[in-house]
Amino acid sequence: MAVESRREARRLKGSPLKIARDILVDTVTTLHKETPPAQQQAMGFFTDTSVCIGCKACEVACKQWNQLPGAEPSWSGNSYDNTGALTATTWRHVQFIEQIGRRKPKQAEEAAPVSQMPEPPGLSFFAALGAMPTLTVPDRASSPGMPDLPLFDNRIEEAKENGEIPQTPPGTALPFFNTDRWLLHSDVCKHCKNAPCHEACPTGAIIRTEFDTVYVQQDICNGCAYCTVACPFGVIARDSEGDGRAHKCTLCYDRLKDGFEPACAKACPTDSIQFGPVEELKAMARERVGILHKKGATEARLYGVDDNILEDGLNSFFLLLDEPEVYNLPSNPQRPSNNIIPTSLRSVFAVLFLSLMGMLFFKNKE
Ligand code: SF4
Ligand code: SF4
Ligand code: SF4
Repeated sequence: MAVESRREARRLKGSPLKIARDILVDTVTTLHKETPPAQQQAMGFFTDTSVCIGCKACEVACKQWNQLPGAEPSWSGNSYDNTGALTATTWRHVQFIEQIGRRKPKQAEEAAPVSQMPEPPGLSFFAALGAMPTLTVPDRASSPGMPDLPLFDNRIEEAKENGEIPQTPPGTALPFFNTDRWLLHSDVCKHCKNAPCHEACPTGAIIRTEFDTVYVQQDICNGCAYCTVACPFGVIARDSEGDGRAHKCTLCYDRLKDGFEPACAKACPTDSIQFGPVEELKAMARERVGILHKKGATEARLYGVDDNILEDGLNSFFLLLDEPEVYNLPSNPQRPSNNIIPTSLRSVFAVLFLSLMGMLFFKNKE
C-alpha cells in the first residue's frame, strides 16, 4: 500500500493534480484536531513571601528561560525596585514594599528635620557598627549550643539619638532607619481556577492546559486585549511595542511537559516559590501560616487558598504578611462576566423608560 502511494506520488510530481492534492492535504491538516493530552494533576505555585529575600533570581530566570527582553533600568526615585510591574515581557515581578515609619520609633518622631540635623562627627554608619561591642540575646546565650549573635538594634537607636548617624544616610533613596520593614513579594499570574481572561478571550487563544494552568496560544491571539481588561490582577498585558499579542506567565508549560519545574521555582534560593500539585501546596501553605502564627507573626495570612477568590480560588497563591491591598492585590476581585446580567437588565429598563417617556411626550403634544 505504501509502495503504491509512493508510485502515485511520483506520478503526480509537479502536476496540477499534485498541487491540488497538496492544497487539500494542507486544508484537512489545518482542520484536523489532535487528541488532547491526557489530563494531569493540577499544578501551581505557593509563593511564601515571608522567606523572600528580594534577590530577583526568579525574575531573571523567567526572562532567561522564556527569552524575554529586559527593560533599560531606570531610577524610580521611590523604591529600590526598578522593574515596576508585571508586563508583557516581565512575567515574574519581585515587588519591594518599603514601609517607611510604619511603627515610627519615638525618637524618630521627635527628631529634627534632616536638613537641621548635625553632621555625623566623622563616623560613618558602617564604621559606627564596627565600633560597637557585640551584644548577645540573653535567652540565646543561656541556650546550650546556640551561637552568640551580634545585635545592633539598641546601638543604632542610641547612635541616632546621639546624632552619630544621620536619619537619611547619603547616597540612599530612603531614610531606612525609619523603615520598620520591607515586604517582598514575587508576583506572577495566579492561574485562576475560574480565569476572567479565559472567559473574555473571543478567539479561544487562552486555554487551560492538562496541568490546569492558563496558557495563551500565541498563534491564535489577535491582540484584541479583551483579556487584559478582564484580569482583575493586572497580570496579562499586550506587547504593544512587539508583536501586539497578549503575554503572561505560562507556568513554564514547555518545562512541565518535559517533567521539569518552572524556571523561577528552580532558581529561588530560599524556596519562597514552591511548585507542585495544587492540593499538596495548599496543605503546605496552611501548615506554614500556622507555624508563623505560633511564632508571633499574627499578621501572616493566605491569599487564594481557602478564601474562594474568584469563586474557585487560585492555582498560584500566596502567603502574605499584611493586608492583600498592601501588596496591590484586591481582597475581593470581581469577574467582569458577573456584571453582564445586571448591566443588561439596567440597559433594558433604561430603554423601556425612555421609550415610555417619549411616547408620553408625543401623546401630550397631539
Ligand atoms: S485572570 Fe489574570 S491572574 Fe487569572 S489567569 Fe488570567 S492573567 Fe492570570
Ligand atoms: S513559571 Fe516560567 S513563565 Fe511563569 S513566571 Fe515562572 S519562569 Fe516565568
Ligand atoms: S521569590 Fe525567591 S528568587 Fe524571587 S526574589 Fe524572592 S527569594 Fe529571590
